[in-house]
Amino acid sequence: MREWVKRLVGRTIFESHLDALLLRNSAVVVTFHRVKDTETPEGLTVSVDLFEAYCRFFKRYFNVVSLGSLVAKLEDGVTLDRELAITFDDGYRDNFEHAAPVLEKLDLPATFFIVTQWMGTDVIPWWDRDIGVRHPWMTWDQVRSLHRRGFELGVHTRTHADLGSVTDQEAREEIVGARRELEEHVGARVELFAYPYGRLANLAETNRHLIQRSGFRCCCSCFGGVNAPGTDPFYLRRVPISSQYPSPLQFAFEVALGRSVQLA
Ligand SMILES: [Zn+2]
Repeated sequence: MREWVKRLVGRTIFESHLDALLLRNSAVVVTFHRVKDTETPEGLTVSVDLFEAYCRFFKRYFNVVSLGSLVAKLEDGVTLDRELAITFDDGYRDNFEHAAPVLEKLDLPATFFIVTQWMGTDVIPWWDRDIGVRHPWMTWDQVRSLHRRGFELGVHTRTHADLGSVTDQEAREEIVGARRELEEHVGARVELFAYPYGRLANLAETNRHLIQRSGFRCCCSCFGGVNAPGTDPFYLRRVPISSQYPSPLQFAFEVALGRSVQLA
């Protein structure tokens, strides 16, 4: 379907309040990676203006809550009513520099999932090295600052490991070790987990059990989809927002019609 048709249908759905029907009794968790203005937009980057447009859209049409409080609702088995939680993966410095100020201006909660061994380093992940770009990570001071300002932090492993293909020992270090490191750096308990890459094949079931036994309260995927009441927080679905959705209305269209899931 053409982009303008999707935008038109998205606008029609939300402005005619059909959204209340389509997303009734469900909750959406969205994931951003980078928020920055760039001459060369890449898949994982959204501009600061587009990020703010998304935040205003969320505030207008959803009940924006922290991921922790959404998990609590799922644990309690209470009714859902178009909750939306905003999350960020990996720990890019632009999250601190550009996203956090917009979130604070609009008084919106958010969760930042951190790759613990990369903070304060100049590690370049393979997906950036492959296209010849480098995006700096947050320093630990910046991570602590987000925590002090009321944002949630979560674990995204130590080295962005594919938990669908590592050994049991490596999985333990990536899951339990990352949590210990993050807790030591911020001096607070951390209970939220999002697994790297986020597709079905990127997490072995045994590792999901390890995450559960280690004291985490959720495990987030990242292959799209919405969450219904009764969703197990260890099977929490997230919708990645990238250049694939150039406008909030297109995002709305895909999510409301159940077309945000990408299993392959
Ligand atoms: Zn990631």
